[in-house]
Amino acid sequence: MDDVRSSYVRGAFLPPSDDRRQVEDPSDTTRVVGQWSPATPAQAAEAAEAAKEAYPAWEAWTAPARGQVLFKAATLLEAERDAVATLASSEMGKPIGEMRGEVDRGVALLRYYAGEGTRAVGEVYPSAMADALLFTRRTGVGPVLLITPWNFPVAIPIWKMAPALVFGNTVVWKPAEWSSLTAVRLVEVLGGAGFPPGVINLVLGPGRTLGAALTRNPAIRAVSFTGSRPAGMSIAAGALETGARFQLEMGGKNPAIVLEDADIDVAVERILSSAMRSAGQKCTATSRVIALPGILPSLREALVERARALKQGPALDASVFLGPVVSATQRESILAKVKGGVAEGGVVLTGSEPPAGMPPGHWVPPVIVDGARPGGVLHTEELFGPVVGLFAADTAEAAVALANQVPYGLSASIFTRDLDRALYFIRHMEAGLVRVNDESAGVEYQAPFGGVKESSWGWREQGRAAIEFYTETHTVTVRPSR
Ligand code: NAD
Repeated sequence: MDDVRSSYVRGAFLPPSDDRRQVEDPSDTTRVVGQWSPATPAQAAEAAEAAKEAYPAWEAWTAPARGQVLFKAATLLEAERDAVATLASSEMGKPIGEMRGEVDRGVALLRYYAGEGTRAVGEVYPSAMADALLFTRRTGVGPVLLITPWNFPVAIPIWKMAPALVFGNTVVWKPAEWSSLTAVRLVEVLGGAGFPPGVINLVLGPGRTLGAALTRNPAIRAVSFTGSRPAGMSIAAGALETGARFQLEMGGKNPAIVLEDADIDVAVERILSSAMRSAGQKCTATSRVIALPGILPSLREALVERARALKQGPALDASVFLGPVVSATQRESILAKVKGGVAEGGVVLTGSEPPAGMPPGHWVPPVIVDGARPGGVLHTEELFGPVVGLFAADTAEAAVALANQVPYGLSASIFTRDLDRALYFIRHMEAGLVRVNDESAGVEYQAPFGGVKESSWGWREQGRAAIEFYTETHTVTVRPSR
């Protein structure tokens, strides 16, 4: 396969170096999806320089004109929906139905932020001086570095890139290595919309070296990161060296609390959707179920029965619910943590056998573990796989307390018809996303997104909240000259 994909700087793809990475389909590792070549450190620095050079002219465009380019980008991506989704499913294993939905989300995000180009960006204040006009205006921040994970290879980059661009910033994007081919395709599509050279730049390669160097590049004025907690903390340290602002979206250990008055069918359907779609590789996936004694036995039975019935198979089969996990390393890490939970007293109710008759891929069956130790691996550690730990609590208050006994605080659900106990949960649950009778996974792009505790740091993403991170506010006072 001669087509080697590479980084994109100043509106052109760079010649690939001799360093090549072969991408194998996680649904069938004998199938080669493509090849890419990481950027050199000099090329990464060049991308930051290109974004710096392009910034003043792009910031000088009117916001409605920038919005028009985003509208065009949305139309182009919509036309390439199936091709982009098929490539992403083949590269990182998300089932094709979910992946098409993710590309649709990307299109919707582009249109939403294109509209930001014509919405109000400042406020007028009453001045203490009778003759003064006091108002705010906003400008871009400068070149921004976007560092993204592989698990939402289209939606997360766009929910960062679209607000960054419409508010006048230029972009250097460093995607995860596991989604490099999809990143190239996305840039190819967006590149046709008419962004001037240097406004969008793509740097392929490892985070620990290239990502870390870019974070410390003085041309970069803001870093928006989504990924694991350790990488986030290291990026924070790097950004502090140059004074760049930073925003971190990190892990989760999201609970679903089920009270005895819950509709069991609704709870089971939403818990399994949240825990098993994308093979549990979502920061907002449900990975702990905490139930009251009155419902735990029937909930346990229903969860196990329906988890066993979930169709697992290759990501490009549209009838599949559960695809592979992204890599062999990820698979081993998930299975090791399940083993750890069993060593702490957990009992695997389903998922102990690998599925039979699959092509060679990174398969993890849907796993449900009962009776794991509160405070242990399955209670506190992010697994990032199709695994649910079942826990018991005597009261709704005790369930919320158990749910809160983790370092993370991204998303949380409760299933109940009791308004008072739902209100107690809303008030006391330590999570950025708090859901009543809804699954913990999933995001509505028009509303703010982010977590508390160790899940997030800094500004919220998405919706109108994005304007805070991607703009500088200038407070203006104007008085008559005489
Ligand atoms: P990761 O932290 O390994 O990598 C994320 C990105 O950071 C990649 O582009 C990687 O190359 C880069 N990177 C890694 N170390 C770096 C460093 N020292 N300096 C600069 N860049 C570095 O995460 P992942 O495995 O790609 O994704 C899974 C993680 O992402 C999970 O912890 C998950 O919870 C989290 N996640 C969070 C959200 C959220 O919104 N909170 C959403 C999706 C995923």
